[in-house]
Amino acid sequence: MKKVVVVTTGGTIAMKLDPATGGLIPAVSGDDLLAAVPVLKNFAEVEVVETSNVPSGHLLPEDQFKIAKTVEREASRTDVDGIVVTHGTDTLEETAYLLDLVVDTDKPICVTGAMRGASDMSWDGPGNILAAVQAAASDEMIGQGAAIVLNNEIHAAREGTKTHSVNTDTFQSPYWGSIGYVYDDHVVVRRHSLCLEKFKVDHLVTDVYDIKCVSGLDDYLFDCLAKKPAAGIVVEAFGCGNVPLKVMDGIKECREHGIPVVLTSRTYGGKVVPIYGYKGSARTLLPYGVILADELTGQKARIKLMVALAVTNDNDELKKIFHSV
Ligand code: ASP
Repeated sequence: MKKVVVVTTGGTIAMKLDPATGGLIPAVSGDDLLAAVPVLKNFAEVEVVETSNVPSGHLLPEDQFKIAKTVEREASRTDVDGIVVTHGTDTLEETAYLLDLVVDTDKPICVTGAMRGASDMSWDGPGNILAAVQAAASDEMIGQGAAIVLNNEIHAAREGTKTHSVNTDTFQSPYWGSIGYVYDDHVVVRRHSLCLEKFKVDHLVTDVYDIKCVSGLDDYLFDCLAKKPAAGIVVEAFGCGNVPLKVMDGIKECREHGIPVVLTSRTYGGKVVPIYGYKGSARTLLPYGVILADELTGQKARIKLMVALAVTNDNDELKKIFHSV
């Protein structure tokens, strides 16, 4: 029988109703989580490693990097076949993508969580843990990088994103779709992730900001970040990479301070492409050395920039890492 290590970090999956506050708070241990899923033993031998029990919005990039190191350590064990990480869903996709980029293993890494707490009548935690363990123990998932497994769907960490604030079917891969599905007794993978990348880094450069464009956004925040100076900035542009005129001024100022600026789209699918020639378009930002983020969302591009800056400060090298023109 295969062995799967479950690394617990917290999130709603490990929360119960607190009568004092009337809200969910962290309360369930790793062993409690496994005890809630007695059928696990039919699919794998399971071991638990508890790292924290916090809402995922409290995790710092340093904590996410520590989770990655724990996963790498457990995955390097010869007696371990796969890893499950339990995590709050709010920032799950960021940690999952970090694992995808920095954990050097072919073994399946399946990140899961829950939208309803352990005191809820319809707690989705046990079902999600079961599906994640099944996926982590499956040959089909070997070499697929890190994956997000919730509601029986398997999403590539690079593509999966939280799309609904409370629905249990919240994780989707806009445009490309899930890579597989976990049935009662077997796992189906229908497409392979073709964009797997690995970076060997011993830290993250965490001083990286993500700014979303809205109509009328000005250069105030960029001016602050230029003065700081920040280590890097991700800009979530309109459409295929267009920003308001004042934001263009702000980006120019940040580039003059040598700050790498990565351009993503605030839409949920498609690449940033230099189609337009009008001021503020991706094409007119390229001369300043702006880096195009391919298809990554802002939050994923920020994770990649934190990793990339630990590899190099050189803007041309960063461009290569982002496959930018
Ligand atoms: N706020 C929770 C968290 O991310 C949400 C969840 O786990 O679903 O920790």
